[in-house]
Amino acid sequence: MKITIKHYLLFTLLFSVSAIKAQRFAENQSKIVLVVHGGAGTINKKNMTPEKEANYKAALTLALQKGFNELKLGKSALDAVQAAVNVMEDSPLFNAGKGAVFTNEGKNELDASIMDGRTLKAGAVAGVTSLKNPVNAARAVMEKSQHVMMVGKGAEIFATSQGCETVPTSYFFTQERWQQLERAKKSEMGDRSAYNFDPRESMISGVSDEDKKFGTVGAVALDINGDLAAATSTGGMTNKRYGRVGDSPIIGAGTYCNNLTAGISCTGWGEYYIRLAIANRVSNLIEFKNISVEEATKQVISELGNLGGDGGIIALDQKGNVAMDFNTSGMYRGTIDENGNVSVYIFKN
Ligand code: ASP
Repeated sequence: MKITIKHYLLFTLLFSVSAIKAQRFAENQSKIVLVVHGGAGTINKKNMTPEKEANYKAALTLALQKGFNELKLGKSALDAVQAAVNVMEDSPLFNAGKGAVFTNEGKNELDASIMDGRTLKAGAVAGVTSLKNPVNAARAVMEKSQHVMMVGKGAEIFATSQGCETVPTSYFFTQERWQQLERAKKSEMGDRSAYNFDPRESMISGVSDEDKKFGTVGAVALDINGDLAAATSTGGMTNKRYGRVGDSPIIGAGTYCNNLTAGISCTGWGEYYIRLAIANRVSNLIEFKNISVEEATKQVISELGNLGGDGGIIALDQKGNVAMDFNTSGMYRGTIDENGNVSVYIFKN
C-alpha cells in the first residue's frame, strides 16, 4: 500500500489523540495504597521473642502484599481489603477467623464488616460460627442482599447460599486461645495465679492475658480509580457472654468508609468504640471540621482515652494520607505504598 500524505496525517492525529488519552488517564489515576492492622493492646517488647516478632511481621507483610497485588491488577479497593483481611483471618496469630478467641461457653463467634467508600454500601455479619472468612460473608451481605447486617444462623444460611466457605467449628480451635479462656475464667473467680505464666512461651502475641479484647484485624485501601474501602474482622473478646457483639461488625463503630473523608478500621475495647461511634466520628471530624485524617484520628483516640477505653484506629484518605494511632502499648500495623514498599510496626515508634 502506498503511504500518502492523507495516511500520514490520519496516523499522526490518531497517535496524538491516544497520547492525550493516556496522559489524561495517568493524571486521573489515583495512588494505590493499603493499610492494615492486626489488633492493638498491651504488646510489650519484654513479652516478645525475636521469633514471635518476625512471625507477626511476616503475616502483616503477606497481608499487605496480597491486597496490593489486587490493587496492582487494577482491581477495586474492596477486593484489596478483602484479600488482606483473608490472609489475617487464615493465620492463627490474629483474633479473627482461624485464631479467634473463645466465648465464655467455649465457642468461637465471629464478627466482620466491609464498606465501600464510593457508594456508601456496607455489609456485616455477627455471631457466626462456621464461616471460614467472615469478611467474605460481610461482602456477600453488602452485594447480594438488600440488608446491611445479618447475624447468627441466618447470616450463615445466606452466606453459604452465596458460596462462602464453611468449616467445622473445630477448625477454630487453637490451644493458645483455649488456654487464654481458661486463664480469663480463673481470674474472674479471683485466682490471680492465672496470670503467672511467661507470655513469651505463647506463640500468639505479646499481649498479656489480662487484655482479653484485642487482636482484631482490619484493612483500608485506595484503588487506582480513587475509591476507598475498609474492612474489619474479629473473634471479639475472650470470655465474652451470650450473644455479645462488639464494634467490629457495626458500621460507624468499628468500620466506616466514605470517599469524601476516609476509610477507617478500628481495634480495641468494642463497647467504647460503639458508644463513641468511633469510625464514623473520625469521618465526621474530617468532614465538618475540615481537619486532616491524622488530626481527626488523634482527636478521637484522645476522646476514647478520656472515656476510659483503649485501642487503635487506622485511616486512609483519597489523597493517600495514612493515620495509624492507638493509646495502647502496641498495635500490629503496616502500610504498602504505590511502589510496593512495605513498612510494618508493632510497638510505638
Ligand atoms: N474491637 C473488638 C471487639 O470488641 C476487639 C478487638 O479489637 O480486638 O470485639
